[in-house]
Amino acid sequence: MDKNTRICIIGGGPAGLSAGMYLEQKGYENYTILERLDRVGGKCWSPTYNGRRYEMGAIMGVPSYYAVHDVEEFCGITHDGPKLNRNYKNGAGKVIEPFEPKKNIFKIPRLLKMKKQIQQFGELLETKYKGYDVNGHRGVAEGRYDGFAVTPGREPVSGENPNLKDLCLPFAEFCRKNGVELVQDVWIGPYTSFGYGYFDEIPAGYVLKYLDFQTTMNFVKINLWTWKNGTQYIWEQLNEHLKHQARLNSNIEKVERRDGKVYVTVNGQVEEYDKIIVTAPLHIPGTRTDGQRGMDEYFDVRDDEKELFSKIDYERYDVLAVETKPEDHPEISYYVFDNMIPAKLGHLMVYYRRWRDTKDQVITTYALRKHKNKEEIPYETCKKMVLDDLKIMGNPATNVVNEWSVYYFPHVFSEDYTAGWYDKVEAMQDKYDTFYAGEIMAFGDMDETAEYSRELVERFF
Ligand SMILES: Cc1cc2nc3c(=O)[nH]c(=O)nc-3n(C[C@H](O)[C@H](O)[C@H](O)COP(=O)(O)OP(=O)(O)OC[C@H]3O[C@@H](n4cnc5c(N)ncnc54)[C@H](O)[C@@H]3O)c2cc1C
Repeated sequence: MDKNTRICIIGGGPAGLSAGMYLEQKGYENYTILERLDRVGGKCWSPTYNGRRYEMGAIMGVPSYYAVHDVEEFCGITHDGPKLNRNYKNGAGKVIEPFEPKKNIFKIPRLLKMKKQIQQFGELLETKYKGYDVNGHRGVAEGRYDGFAVTPGREPVSGENPNLKDLCLPFAEFCRKNGVELVQDVWIGPYTSFGYGYFDEIPAGYVLKYLDFQTTMNFVKINLWTWKNGTQYIWEQLNEHLKHQARLNSNIEKVERRDGKVYVTVNGQVEEYDKIIVTAPLHIPGTRTDGQRGMDEYFDVRDDEKELFSKIDYERYDVLAVETKPEDHPEISYYVFDNMIPAKLGHLMVYYRRWRDTKDQVITTYALRKHKNKEEIPYETCKKMVLDDLKIMGNPATNVVNEWSVYYFPHVFSEDYTAGWYDKVEAMQDKYDTFYAGEIMAFGDMDETAEYSRELVERFF
């Protein structure tokens, strides 16, 4: 592609900003990033409270976050945040140690079985499911892998592996099929409580591309990265270091694609581009009160785009930042495993104490209120349930200082994943001078989405 190609990027989150960085590094400097909000970072949102930044969105990374590491190197920053630590409580608020055999004498046989299954699972993933962990979902439904290795060098890898079709199954079914049901006890912590849905509804492809074996072991060992000034700082820094900073408060009214050009009407002005990369939501079922819209609402969408994007759903994941009395401040972060099942929809699944050296900071709470086969719990009902749960946990809130019901983890379900949704969308890349990127194309975490942008630039530019 001509290095002077005029490229419009929609969205100033990790996907959009890293697309800018990788384009720039490849010699494409004629890009414009349009961001609808008055800040960059998207779901990496780190507001300030009492002089310190806390996390309303993304919190942590792992050492295999190679794309995030590219950004750190580009900006000369590092992961310098507070060390993470956590403990566990049951639904009644009692501290438990579910993985400690000495504290669970009756559960020893199950724990031993789980340990054995985890080992088996690691071996299965390396052999039977070779290629399962490449970024993105290209070829999975057809029993192929095609992408870049999850290594610092990210070498291109591709091959046939019919077993990969199993990744289209819901994760619970995938585990059952492989006789490793108990691994879910470990995978559920960094999966469901982090808002990515329930194992009986979410295709294994999503679970395992995010929580590949190595990443899960990093969670188990708490070998995790955080950033002192919050995850938003990574993207603020990237924005500052780019040749062209994101244009904030950009209200895109219309996008029309004709005669090999892309016309974007933004804040009342028509701008002309050659290509457009969409990292913003492709489709939002229903309406949202925060003004977010799917691209299918402001683009001249074609029938194939409309048809495919209508299959996308997302998680209703709610975050509260609350104050407590000093004596009620939790001593550490807690996972509440009992509340990570569909029957406990809307309940508190995890709460996070970020700054352990002080009690004058907020704690943040996390709950899911939608399951594929259940009625959605209204926002206010869920908020009340979470505040009630905090009382049960022995850490009652005195005040809510911030709240967010976020457009989270866009995905398709097994039926569409199996029917080759990803290969169909991948085949449309550049068809209408449009590239589709962002969370839906890989996974809803900072690294997978930035890595997808890297690969998109590598493949098409
Ligand atoms: C509570 C929470 C916890 C999380 N925890 C972690 C974690 O610990 N680790 C991790 O790696 N990830 C975590 N994530 C996920 C991570 O934040 C996201 O996966 C990542 O930010 C996705 O990047 P993105 O650029 O694809 O999308 P987004 O971050 O959503 O960015 C999209 C951008 O596009 C903009 N936009 C939308 N529509 C338009 C439009 N029409 N015009 C212009 N701009 C538009 C948005 O304002 C936004 O800035 C968490 C997220 C949340 C909410």
